Amino acid sequence: MKSIVAALLVLGACAGAADAQPIRPKLVVALSVDHLSAELFDEYRSHFTGGLKRLSNGVVFANAFQAHGPTETCPGHSTILTGSHPARTGIIANQWVDWNAARPDKTIYCAEDHRIADSSSTRYTVSDLQIRVSTLGDWMRQANPASRVVAVAGKDRSAVMMGAHNPDQRWWWGGDRFVQNGAAPAPVGAQVNAAISRAIGEARPPLVPPAFCAPKDRAIDIGGGKSVGTFRFARNAGDASAFTMSPEMDAATLAMAAALIEQMQLGRGAAPDLLAISLSATDLVGHRYGTDGVEMCLQLMSLDSDLAGFFTLLDRSGIEYAVVVTADHGGLDLPERRRAVNGVATARVDRAATVEAISTEVTRKLGLAGPAFVGQWYISGTVPVARRTEVLALTRHLLAAQPQVEATFSAAEITAHPMPQGHPESWSVLDRLRASFDPQRSPSLVVVYKPGITPIPAPVEDHVSTHGSVWDYDRKVPILFWWKGVTGQDHEESAMTIDIAPTLASLIGVTTPQSAIDGHCLDLLPGPENNCP
Ligand code: ZN
Repeated sequence: MKSIVAALLVLGACAGAADAQPIRPKLVVALSVDHLSAELFDEYRSHFTGGLKRLSNGVVFANAFQAHGPTETCPGHSTILTGSHPARTGIIANQWVDWNAARPDKTIYCAEDHRIADSSSTRYTVSDLQIRVSTLGDWMRQANPASRVVAVAGKDRSAVMMGAHNPDQRWWWGGDRFVQNGAAPAPVGAQVNAAISRAIGEARPPLVPPAFCAPKDRAIDIGGGKSVGTFRFARNAGDASAFTMSPEMDAATLAMAAALIEQMQLGRGAAPDLLAISLSATDLVGHRYGTDGVEMCLQLMSLDSDLAGFFTLLDRSGIEYAVVVTADHGGLDLPERRRAVNGVATARVDRAATVEAISTEVTRKLGLAGPAFVGQWYISGTVPVARRTEVLALTRHLLAAQPQVEATFSAAEITAHPMPQGHPESWSVLDRLRASFDPQRSPSLVVVYKPGITPIPAPVEDHVSTHGSVWDYDRKVPILFWWKGVTGQDHEESAMTIDIAPTLASLIGVTTPQSAIDGHCLDLLPGPENNCP
């Protein structure tokens, strides 16, 4: 991967003497590694030798939380730079059902403008319309209009959730190149895309895993004559899809970010700038191959190496910068491998416990004219209002008989529950759901499967494992802060991703709208010093 970064990165021409100002950076780099669970970070921490090792020597909160549940990409990214839970950001899922929407499928994607004619949740215009709060980038520009905000991500929704409203540049991966809308594209984008095209055009030999990953290099049967666990990311020339689902994707994202730093001279203006980056390959690899095979080992080692290259270029530039790394959610490995390797009692969800099966049964038993549910547990708009209570009662009765179901909660029950306070490790399931609930956007019913149940039924297709639950394997993520001169500290106590934005604001002297957010500034300095206001 190093060669791709080297080929694409254009930063570094202006090497200078970085002075060792410990804090008050001119550039804030906020990185999300999509799907990087606290468990993965802990497991690989001692093996990192590059960028993630550097971060590991900074201020580390290894016991941090995306406190809410369910745990999806859009809600998770919405917490990182807003300082608020999804209940406040409004981003309660990757998509939701809105019966008032004009479009036929009534489904809204979290990062689109659904008002645009002839659009749909799958053919949409990328927009920050759906996010209801301001972000760190907005606070920075309010404090000083000279601040610039740039977002680069593998996924459009990640770029939208971490960038401010109307950022200066917002780029995401469009399948075979980076694309953007809104602001006029920085010209360097075309140069980076041309370099990426050349990289895709060349075949890639298999990667060589480090020796410590040998025990993971083992084929796991997932049915249908397919297996995972041994793929090394060899790629045919011109295969953009294979490029996307590989460590090369993150290298390309970092290359685009570095090019924008150089062309826009981020960190060299009159006010601090924000660069938000979301690296999607860990998620794509995790879903496709699981989190405990040789594939994830290769992905994380490549990421470690690519981040080292990225930080080295920043060092050479002389820009005073601070970095935070976290994730939008964790994840759970596929049940077939957890059983085979670790002997864990775990399973895929029974088809009988899925919304499709239950909805069909409720529709039949109640003699409804159309399906009882649409999407994940939204009572269909075709169900007469007078029959909704009956639908809900029968559904919960049927789910209670399913051995894989832990609990069900109606929208009314979650709405009536107070917003949780205190440490996230002590939150009840209902607390977690409340932090991610919006009365207008959330479903009629939330179904919680038991811990360890993978909500992808057999036989599997493209995705073999996932995240999304309310359980800690999906909630726990690392939060790592680093800047030149940082005093390394490992914090035992928990933290939350909603604490990141007020903490970063404190480092650059920007006022946080504290009464309008849920998070709190984290003290990153040793001893009696405190960065928080
Ligand atoms: Zn994600």
